Amino acid sequence: MNRNIMKLVFASALTLVLLLAALPFQQAGAVGNGPNINPNQSINKDRVKTYEEMSDFLYHVTDRSDRLELEVIGQSVKERDLFLVKFGNNPDNPTIVFLTQQHGNEEMITEGALHVIKNLSGNSRHVRELEEKVNVLFVPRINPDGAEGDVNFDISDYTAGGTSTRFNANEVDLNRDHNDRTQPETIALHENVLQKYDIDYLIDFHHQGTSPVLDDRYVSGSMLYPTNPGVSEETVIGSKQLGSVIYDAVTAKGWGHLAKYPGGDANTIARNGLAYEYDFSTLLFEMRGMTDNSREEAVLGQKSNGYLIKQAVVSMEAAMEAIADGSIHDADINFWDDLPYQEYRDQEEGQE
Ligand SMILES: [Zn+2]
Repeated sequence: MNRNIMKLVFASALTLVLLLAALPFQQAGAVGNGPNINPNQSINKDRVKTYEEMSDFLYHVTDRSDRLELEVIGQSVKERDLFLVKFGNNPDNPTIVFLTQQHGNEEMITEGALHVIKNLSGNSRHVRELEEKVNVLFVPRINPDGAEGDVNFDISDYTAGGTSTRFNANEVDLNRDHNDRTQPETIALHENVLQKYDIDYLIDFHHQGTSPVLDDRYVSGSMLYPTNPGVSEETVIGSKQLGSVIYDAVTAKGWGHLAKYPGGDANTIARNGLAYEYDFSTLLFEMRGMTDNSREEAVLGQKSNGYLIKQAVVSMEAAMEAIADGSIHDADINFWDDLPYQEYRDQEEGQE
């Protein structure tokens, strides 16, 4: 290398080092003064695991547990592994699926699922008894590309700067793809989970905007059973019972305030389509607030993260317990007739 080139290389390297040194300060400023964020909120993803952190966690917790099994069921558009965590494997027992994050910007629910997975990895008497009575399948974060904001379209104008999005990398809404199944995420879910196990119940967990209210108070979540007229009566009753168990568990908490979700009848969405196609009971659970969205009012600050994660844990554990001890079959479904639909404080539209 001649002297002039060496000088140039050195100067370039120095410039790069100086640039890198300056970068954290610039980033800190940009994040702290992020555009259009309500001043009493701050977008904080500290409590949300990145894809890599989630993946590490799942390998770690399932490696160390005799009761949990981790399986890769496919890859996302951007070739991230999609995971299934299995608890219990007795085909004579009832099976429930917890599906989270079809929409990448609906993240706390996955944190809740990871808490429950951790709880089931232990060796307590209670966990061992549960394992003898129920099978649980977790499909956490079925849309990892959307969750990472690693997509083939521009989301830089989102409220939190495009950290995550509803859609998958191809800008497809996975919860409209359950009939056509054009995306690798939906194909993996159907072929390697829904068609492979004898499933009795499935909860499709989401987050919605921040403005839904019931009795002039913000809801902590809203639920709905399958409403497509093609779904069998028995399957709908099972779905309503599942909702009943969760309603009782969540509303027993001080922060729990649940309404009925005003969802549609289309079979392209999981709540209807899966109940129709596979004849198992389904429940939509929409928790409050998202981590990023094109609409500012949909984004919730960090103060709510704690109870949202708790709500996810309480819901999943209540469902597992009631299925395990059979009490789900005695659950009162008449409360659904009296449960009002949520209303929208800011005329924001719902989209499950
Ligand atoms: Zn959603």
